[in-house]
Amino acid sequence: MSRPVPQQDAMPTTRGLNFYREDANLQWLCRALMPREVFERAEPHLVAMGEAAGDVLDALAAEADRNPPTLRPYDERGRRIDEVVRHPSYRELERLAFSRFGLAAMSHRDGVLGWPGQAPHLLKYALVYLFSQAEFGLLCPVNVTDSTTRMLRRYGSADLQARYLPRLTTTDFDALWQGTQWMTEKTGGSDVGASTTVARRDADGAWRLWGDKWFCSNANADVALTLARPEGAPPGTKGLAMFLVPKVLPDGTKNAWTLNRLKDKLGSRSMATGEVTYAGAVAWLVGEPDQGFKQMMEMVNVSRLANAIRAAGIMRRSLLESLVHARGRAAFGRALAELPLLRQNLFEMLLDSEAATTVVLGAAAVFDGWDAGSAEDRKLFRLLTPLAKYWTTMRARWVASEAMNVRAGNGYIEEWPNARLVRDSYLGAIWEGTSNVVALDVQRALMREGCLDPFLGLVSRRLATVSDRGAKPWVDVALRTLETVEQQVRRWPDLSKPERELEARPVADTAYHLYASSLLFSDGQTLREDVDDWRKLLVAVLYARRWLRAHAPNAAVFPARDLAWLDAVVDWEPVPASALPPPDDPTMHAFASTVWRPATSTPTSSTSPPRPS
Ligand SMILES: Cc1cc2nc3c(=O)[nH]c(=O)nc-3n(C[C@H](O)[C@H](O)[C@H](O)COP(=O)(O)OP(=O)(O)OC[C@H]3O[C@@H](n4cnc5c(N)ncnc54)[C@H](O)[C@@H]3O)c2cc1C
Repeated sequence: MSRPVPQQDAMPTTRGLNFYREDANLQWLCRALMPREVFERAEPHLVAMGEAAGDVLDALAAEADRNPPTLRPYDERGRRIDEVVRHPSYRELERLAFSRFGLAAMSHRDGVLGWPGQAPHLLKYALVYLFSQAEFGLLCPVNVTDSTTRMLRRYGSADLQARYLPRLTTTDFDALWQGTQWMTEKTGGSDVGASTTVARRDADGAWRLWGDKWFCSNANADVALTLARPEGAPPGTKGLAMFLVPKVLPDGTKNAWTLNRLKDKLGSRSMATGEVTYAGAVAWLVGEPDQGFKQMMEMVNVSRLANAIRAAGIMRRSLLESLVHARGRAAFGRALAELPLLRQNLFEMLLDSEAATTVVLGAAAVFDGWDAGSAEDRKLFRLLTPLAKYWTTMRARWVASEAMNVRAGNGYIEEWPNARLVRDSYLGAIWEGTSNVVALDVQRALMREGCLDPFLGLVSRRLATVSDRGAKPWVDVALRTLETVEQQVRRWPDLSKPERELEARPVADTAYHLYASSLLFSDGQTLREDVDDWRKLLVAVLYARRWLRAHAPNAAVFPARDLAWLDAVVDWEPVPASALPPPDDPTMHAFASTVWRPATSTPTSSTSPPRPS
């Protein structure tokens, strides 16, 4: 990154920067995770997306945010049309995402972006990561179109596939149909089993849906995957089937559902979210009738990765805004970035951002492994996506807010990007499962779905690659913490349900930080071996120290000796071994981790083993 001469009256902006070229960490990760020929083919597209994100996409996104979609329920003759009127800036964003970059098509269709065959998930998500630094709202439609296609390919009948896949995966903008996923009802998004939408079968065998969906994003979609209970099916999630509901029927008539109104939202304002009533809407069953919820959860799990990528994108954009501002603007005779407390803000944001990027791209690589047939990657993906979604979406709120603080007064003003970043950052931790619900899903994956052993294996294998003497004591902290997680999870079946649920969030917190630390450490070891640079090991140590050990109440988060390395870390200048902090840092508490110690918390658990409820 450039270091301008700071000026007292400067108000620096990121407009015009290439967000890929500015991001040495992203470049390093793509190079490390992609085989060489894949990286060489991918990089020109990443450069092009980086240029767009720092310029045209950002300008369009700001415009679309100021001009949210509106609903035109009737046409001039009073016929019900339920048209979502999208602003030209949003239409142009759609054209860039779906056509120019083919983001929703590239996992399903050969040759998108000139790729031989279908492009890897890793490339798609690296592009989405860059796109999300400019525009958040549209990435929901991109993702739900992509995942609708995935579900149809996995579970749809040959007829449905023939009718819908060509239009869902086209990069011809005029021919494109978009997909979506609607399940939340007034009865609640978490308790999906309480859904009241009913599916009835006509005498001719056609399914018709009756009921209301309360949150319907990408409300202008052409095809929705939705959940409904066939008449006579059992209550709860077991009785829910997945249906495809088109907006227009094959004979050209409008299907019997209405878009009642659009929501007035805090963030993601460019994209339409509405309320829908199915009034006998014609629908087609997707997959087996008793597998609807399971299939929908598979779709949601993929969407959660997209969600985590966007959160990582928000963190990175927030960090970039802060670095550019703090280096270009002066106060008290120095660049803001030289003031100790502000350096501390920047360093903490940098660690969060770098960890999140590493985690989400790592999960994208695991997704490719699953699709290539690895059973272990299938299990890991099951766990890593809720885990990544859980932490990154919560932390994105904090990082975006910190960035607003760094730009301060201007940060609060809507002409600058910070306010939009803050508003958008709040959604990730609500949709596709709130943080509580996702932490419980992590618990289920660890305890019941066989994900613990692959997770322990992955983290310990990554940590075992680290031989650096300065990093080793911190790796040992991580290994000890991993042991406590294992003990705790293995003990869960013996706890009562309430006791167990109360541990879901602390364990998800720690599991995320362990996974992130293990990737940062092993990447750090690789960088050190390749070019004798301790930069990534320093990031790994500071991250592990920040999140795997408790802090003394009055200690600085980063002592001055760490902060001295901020610029070298930002600019990827060589960092020596001596930069790594000593393990017995006096500013820190001595105990090994902040996580679980054997339970003495309740009388029940200390006297007799509680029965699982
Ligand atoms: C802008 C926007 C767009 C959306 N788009 C869509 C869409 O396209 N399709 C769709 O299907 N949905 C969509 N949603 C809905 C979203 O997925 C739900 O809002 C979310 O799942 C939470 O459901 P709820 O709002 O009904 O909250 P509730 O389920 O009522 O939850 C309320 C509170 O209870 C907590 N809670 C619930 N269960 C538990 C538990 N077991 N243990 C502990 N705490 C718990 C939650 O964490 C939360 O804090 C959208 C939401 C928004 C805001």
